[in-house]
Parts: sequence; structure tokens; C-alpha cells
Amino acid sequence: MAPSNIIVVGGGIAGTMTALELQRKGEQVTLIDRWEPGHSRASSTDYNRVIRAISGRDEFYTRWARESRLRWLELQAESGQNLMYECGALILASEGHCDWEDATSQTFDTVGVPYFKYSQSEIQQRFPQFRVPDIAYALFEPEAGMLMAHRCVLTCIDLFKRAGGVVKRGRVTTDGSERPMLDGKPLEADVIIIATGPWMSEMFPRTIKPITTVIGVNVIYTSTPDGSDAFDMENMPCWIDHGKSSFGLPSSEGSGVKAAVVIPDKIDLDNDERLIRRECLSRTRSYIQHRFPGLVGEKVVDSKFNQIILTPDTHFIVDWHPEHDNVLFAGGCSGHLFKHAPVFGSFVAGVAVGDYGTADRFKVAGRRKLSPKESPSGR
Ligand SMILES: Cc1cc2nc3c(=O)[nH]c(=O)nc-3n(C[C@H](O)[C@H](O)[C@H](O)COP(=O)(O)OP(=O)(O)OC[C@H]3O[C@@H](n4cnc5c(N)ncnc54)[C@H](O)[C@@H]3O)c2cc1C
Repeated sequence: MAPSNIIVVGGGIAGTMTALELQRKGEQVTLIDRWEPGHSRASSTDYNRVIRAISGRDEFYTRWARESRLRWLELQAESGQNLMYECGALILASEGHCDWEDATSQTFDTVGVPYFKYSQSEIQQRFPQFRVPDIAYALFEPEAGMLMAHRCVLTCIDLFKRAGGVVKRGRVTTDGSERPMLDGKPLEADVIIIATGPWMSEMFPRTIKPITTVIGVNVIYTSTPDGSDAFDMENMPCWIDHGKSSFGLPSSEGSGVKAAVVIPDKIDLDNDERLIRRECLSRTRSYIQHRFPGLVGEKVVDSKFNQIILTPDTHFIVDWHPEHDNVLFAGGCSGHLFKHAPVFGSFVAGVAVGDYGTADRFKVAGRRKLSPKESPSGR
């Protein structure tokens, strides 16, 4: 059968992985992005992202994360690039609010994900960097870790080009019926995949905007103590601290310790400079001082201000446009797509070529807000 002519719009991790999978399936794929893939405005920017199977009671994402981990390791072996560091991830269960962590350990037992459960004193012994008087227990997932995000995007672009894929620069818009256009003309292809991350909302004001919210997230990097490697990824895991709406990653490749307190912020995608907001800076600093006494007095050495597109249930969007039957949406990151990207990309590729339909959870219709207990993110 002749290869299909497929356009993927958006060169973040969702579009890049999808394009790579389709090209490797034998289709002829063109990837179009407004800016140079790897650019600093995209959600996929920054040095690193956490990869973890931890997803509360949600077995679906737990299994996807486990499968993605293997695929990332394969891509790492194939490319010879350091894409993933297996430094583990620690989830801290706050005293009196352990529902999500309790559910996670049950899911791990069902799916067969290796983990340890540490008491407060065991956390202190094993990871003395953390101060945990308010923590009931922690789950440690040793096969979790971090993906070197920027490098992952560039490596996938490189593999895509080497497989014969074409990368072009251009800004895709939509007309009144939400048909994708380029340079004033309708885009022509057998399938057009829209993987424009948070920009999907404004491009599709009727279909995607009503089921999404775009928020800004501030992240800071803090220097590690002079002469100490205690906060390096060899000695410290990534962590999730639900009780404090926080997460972070140890220092890797000289980055400093990354921490975020998730305080949803407004963001104008095209016009805002990516400068961290002052209020978040002080709240994140206070958090670091509370949780990591060894970082008191250390300096902010880097920062990022970036965005997430959220769906009400935090499930991704993989569905056909209701009026244009060759237009497929692939995104709705909800803050957790990066780790899943290899499986997400191959799933989208299968839907695009008609191997199977999409999953109910990824459909545009029927979205509803989940309770923190049901939600994969626990929020
Ligand atoms: C601070 C922060 C921390 C996160 N932490 C984690 C984590 O630890 N683990 C995890 O798994 N996930 C994490 N995420 C989420 C993850 O980064 C995102 O889910 C993922 O990067 C989304 O990728 P994307 O390809 O959908 O979007 P993007 O990376 O934004 O890519 C969209 C692309 O589309 C292009 N584009 C937009 N409009 C157009 C247009 N009109 N025409 C052509 N091109 C266009 C853009 O230029 C961009 O390159 C985090 C996100 C943030 C912001």
C-alpha cells in the first residue's frame, strides 16, 4: 500500500514522538512548527522531567509509564544519548492525607511495579536531605527517574529526520470552521495531527478551548552546597510532595536542585516573557528551606516559567475533529505527558492510520472533573 501523506503540527514531545512512530511505520510525514523544535516557549522545554509510574489508583497510566520507561531506554541505547537517569522517585505522604499514596501502593501491587515503603525514620536514614516531620510515610519507586527533556526532543527530531521525515517551519492557523490552514491555504494531507500543546486551545476555540485551561508554572533551580554531592542525582531521588503542592528533581549535569510549588498562574502564550514570577519565587524558596535544611543559604542559579494545558479529568486528548475527519488532536498534556511520550506517540500513530479507535478517556466529548481520589494526579 502507498504510504499516507501525514502532517504533524507541533514539534514538542507529543508531535515529535508521533511523527517518529508514523515515519517508522512507513508513512511519509512532515512535521511543522512555528519555531525551532526544542525552543524555550514549548511545554517540553527545560532540562528535565520526572518519569514515574506513580499515578494513584489509575492502572492505565501506571502501565503506560512502565512501558514508556522501556521505550525510553531503547531510544537511549539506539541514539547513544543520555536521555534518562534512573535516580528513583520518592512520594511523600502527608500525615492525615495519604489517600493517593495508599492507592498508588495498591496499584503498584496489582501491576507489579517495584517499590519500597519507608517510615518517617527510614526516609531520614535513607535520604537525609529531606526534613520530614509532617510526613507519615514515603513510597520509593527505584526504577523512576528523570528524562533530559530538551535532549529527548532534539534526539527524537534527529531520529525522525534520519528515518526520512521532513521538518518545516510555519505557523498553522484555523479558519472559521476550525480547518487547519498554512499561508492562507487549507493544509492538504491524508491525516493532519494537531500536537500544538497549549496552543491547541486558542487554535480550536469551539472544540478544545471549552475543555481546557492553560496555566503557568514556575520552577527554580538552587545551587548545591559547596563541596557536597548530597543533592546530586546519584544520591537523591526526584520527589513528589502533594501536601505542599510541590515536586522536584535532584541536581543533574550541574543543573542545581529543581523545585516547583504548583501555584497556577495566568500566562499569555505568545506575549509573556518566560520570566519567573516574584511571588512564586519566594514561596518556592520557603518550601525549599522547609523541606531541605541543607539548602538553606543556597542561591537560585536558574529558573523557568512555562505552561501546561489542563483537561478537567487530566486525561490526554486523542480524538478526531468533529467536522474535519482527517484532523486528529494529540495533546492535552495536563502536566504528565512527557514521560508517556513514546507510548502516546505510538498510540496516536495507530489511531491516525486506522489500526484502532481512540480510548474513551481521550475523547473530546464527555469530559468531567474528577475527585482527587479518582484523578491520576491526586489533585
Ligand atoms: C513546569 C512543568 C513541569 C512538568 N513536569 C513534568 C514531569 O515531571 N513529567 C512529565 O511527564 N511531564 C511533565 N510536564 C508536562 C510535559 O512537559 C508536557 O506534558 C509535554 O511537554 C507536552 O508536550 P506537547 O508536545 O504536547 O506540547 P509542547 O511541548 O508545548 O509542543 C507544542 C509545539 O507546538 C508548536 N506550535 C504551537 N502552535 C503552533 C502552530 N500554530 N503552528 C505550528 N506549530 C505550533 C509549538 O511551537 C511547540 O513546539 C511538565 C510541564 C511543565 C510546564
